[in-house]
Amino acid sequence: MTPPDAPKLPGSTESVHAGTPRERPHHTLAPAVAQTATYTFKDSADLERYMRGEDADPDREEYGRYGNPTVRELEVRVAALEGADDGVAFASGMAAVSTALLSLVKAGEHVVLFNDCYRRSRQLVTKLLSRFGIEHTLVPAGDLAALEAALRPTTRVVVGESPTNPYLYCVDLAAVARIARAHGRVRTLVDSTFATPINCRAHALGVDLVVQSATKYLSGHNDVLGGVVTGPPHLVSLVRDTRGVLGSVLDPHAAFLILRGLKTLALRVERQNRTALAVAQALAGHPAIERVFYPGLPTHPSHEIAARQMRGFGGVVSFIVRGGRAAASRVVDGSRLATIAPSLGGVETLIEQPALMSFFGIDPALIRLSVGVEDTEDVVRDVLDAVARA
Ligand code: PLP
Repeated sequence: MTPPDAPKLPGSTESVHAGTPRERPHHTLAPAVAQTATYTFKDSADLERYMRGEDADPDREEYGRYGNPTVRELEVRVAALEGADDGVAFASGMAAVSTALLSLVKAGEHVVLFNDCYRRSRQLVTKLLSRFGIEHTLVPAGDLAALEAALRPTTRVVVGESPTNPYLYCVDLAAVARIARAHGRVRTLVDSTFATPINCRAHALGVDLVVQSATKYLSGHNDVLGGVVTGPPHLVSLVRDTRGVLGSVLDPHAAFLILRGLKTLALRVERQNRTALAVAQALAGHPAIERVFYPGLPTHPSHEIAARQMRGFGGVVSFIVRGGRAAASRVVDGSRLATIAPSLGGVETLIEQPALMSFFGIDPALIRLSVGVEDTEDVVRDVLDAVARA
């Protein structure tokens, strides 16, 4: 699937070990949860030395909104998995996206957004940023000609997802990064939540900043919210400074849970890749199904790009049921293994009808299935049984 000259992607060994310290205080194997809001100084001279940047310990922290050792370990681990030099963690994926964008643009400047994306990211750009005088152009996901046409002298960021939510379009990230670089001061910000570093390393393709909603695959257990931005140190430190102002920091216990989840990231994603492909193949050509969106199917419009830049095609399958909104609801209601819930990327298979959660311009008969790590044949059988019952 991945061409032999493609950049190396991390596997299970890296999921367990990449970015992990060799030794910890008290020789614990697992990271400690540094449950503290602030940090102490011996005397005023100690504090003054720290403030001058002359402290002997480069990892020393001052206050919980600026840093925490457990959160720092997560930042280093995710940066290592993404193949980036630095990372910064947040209370949620949206905190990561919004803080990163607010770090890169100001009033009078312009953002280009690929339009098939998480609806809150679209709302951030089209509604919230525009209130502060930041302009935008929406372009069809992956349409490179439209991207070139949308770029202005004031454009500072191109924002996209790959694969997109919920139609799973894959954007030619190397081409997007090339176009942005050729234009001058334009940064690329890619939400790679659906890919994870196991399936695609966007930095290796030239993307400047990569966002992960750690709520999804990185933590993997549907029990914690978080987000991480990775990239070169000069950009990550800008984002970190903005985080210190906006305050959307990750709780250390949440960081611990995400660190624990990361250990099995490759194992889970490999299973989810396999199961989602099997589900997509079982639904393709099924008489009750109008269309299946899965980048692993040759019929998907971005199959070729996905095959070029991804190791696996991810754990989400979207499909349109014949018979409209009510028929789709019957399929959702008929599933026994899959649970109705928004979100994706965890060990439990989740099913939802995005139109019921007011996704913009979404077909009312579209179903989004996020496969978990249950046995592949059980997940496939559950979906086919639900379709048969409907
Ligand atoms: N990015 C994508 C692609 C998502 O699907 C989501 C949530 O569904 C987010 C970001 C937001 O993440 P969070 O819920 O952690 O804020």
